[in-house]
Amino acid sequence: MMKTVEPGMNAMDSPAAPEETLDPPDWSDIQALSHRIVDDAVAYLRDVRERPAWREMPREVRDFFRAELPLEATAIGEVYRDVAENVMAYPMGNIHPRFWAWYMGSSNYTGALGEFLAAVQGSNLGGGSHAAALLDGQVIDWCKQMLGFPAHASGTLVSGGSMANLIGLTVARNSKAGIDVRERGVAAIPKPLRFYGSDQVHSCHRKAMESLGLGNQALCRVGTDAGFRIDLRELETAIARDRAAGLHPACIIATAGTVNTGAIDDLPALADMAVRERMWLHVDGCIGALLCIAPANRHLVAGIERADSVALDPHKLLHAPFEAGCALVRDADAHRGTFAVTPEYLETAPRGLAAAEWLHEYGLQTTRGFRALKIWIALKEHGVAKFGRLIDQNIAQARHLAAMIDREPLLELVAPPGIDIVCFRYRAAALGPDRRKDLNVEIMLRLQEEGTAVLSDTTVRGQHCLRVAIANHRTTREDLELLVAEVIRLGRDIESA
Ligand SMILES: *Cc1c(COP(=O)(O)O)cnc(C)c1O
Repeated sequence: MMKTVEPGMNAMDSPAAPEETLDPPDWSDIQALSHRIVDDAVAYLRDVRERPAWREMPREVRDFFRAELPLEATAIGEVYRDVAENVMAYPMGNIHPRFWAWYMGSSNYTGALGEFLAAVQGSNLGGGSHAAALLDGQVIDWCKQMLGFPAHASGTLVSGGSMANLIGLTVARNSKAGIDVRERGVAAIPKPLRFYGSDQVHSCHRKAMESLGLGNQALCRVGTDAGFRIDLRELETAIARDRAAGLHPACIIATAGTVNTGAIDDLPALADMAVRERMWLHVDGCIGALLCIAPANRHLVAGIERADSVALDPHKLLHAPFEAGCALVRDADAHRGTFAVTPEYLETAPRGLAAAEWLHEYGLQTTRGFRALKIWIALKEHGVAKFGRLIDQNIAQARHLAAMIDREPLLELVAPPGIDIVCFRYRAAALGPDRRKDLNVEIMLRLQEEGTAVLSDTTVRGQHCLRVAIANHRTTREDLELLVAEVIRLGRDIESA
């Protein structure tokens, strides 16, 4: 007979304490609160234009986040009030129509619903035979179709462009190492591998080179032409020089849309060169890859479909809520061969839930979130054509802004405008470079503090400038006209102070 009380159990444990769950005792309460949260969320986006693009947090808000670890329960209504007052009221601002800093997307409401439903279903996209896994694969297929990649290519959804680039560069390293680098490590690679990108390459590539054990110096930065595109002749010379020196030129990293100025490297020429030199071609398309769906501008990224691997970023120009990046790899076997490990506890089964390829075999994560749904739901709702038009719209807006700046004697363009990025400054001709930089930084900070607009700044070829990156489906031309007027007003104010 089974004993009812295990040996070692003390009197306190018996009779058994009631079992607990995270589910609410009364679903109708949480239902009412959920409805209120959705109502608030809709109003939040509907009225986004009425709020400042950014605002400083008061002391009380900063202090709120120093509260102790909550050991005991708080009513969810109260918790939500705290979130509404302290979190929702102080966003980064990238959903605002006049947010143009760095390079972000501006999210979208149905994508947010997708994120919510994905969390409600709670599925693990490490793999398995269930609908979320099929949907994940479908989003990869759609990414391939948008870029003109072959159907037999593979891909994986990751957190963003940085991880997508790391995936591509890891497959490149393993494919070109000449040894089983997974088994033997980079120290056994006979000839040191060299990767090549332009001097405009995104900082995530440096991190990738470091993580791959190749080191930052193994990434050769090649000079750029007047349009900030990689200098093809200099690249060819560098490859020949390294080969002669006993190094192994392994991979060209082309950028389709640089972060500084939106320049697009000559993709067809780089694809030819990679074939000629027997090198891997990886395209960092975090900004520009999705131009493939934009009818007026897709010609700018022609040739991207010839890459061995591409990184793209659905949380930028598809405005998926963060995070969503995607890596595509032409050679699916090389991709899987770089990451697949099948431990005894993750074998596939002939039937049932484990009767499917494991999706974790295409990257570094084991557990994966259901980030595909937020992309899928918005693509279905709007159609790819609409997203393409929005990209064309942002590029047209950037040209409009550049033309306004060009006509305005107090302002000047600092680099040729590339796709949806404009680099400019308040001219302040009488000031030296340092004071001119201070003045432009002050303009940028006041625009933020007054809640008018959020820009960032950068330095291109030694020239400091303000930078407007329009990856924003809410921006209108009037927003940009307001920006020009405000930059001039602030520039004059600061100059005369
Ligand atoms: C944004 C960006 C990245 C990094 O992508 P994350 O999504 O921020 O990780 C890499 N390369 C380029 C060109 C980018 O614009």
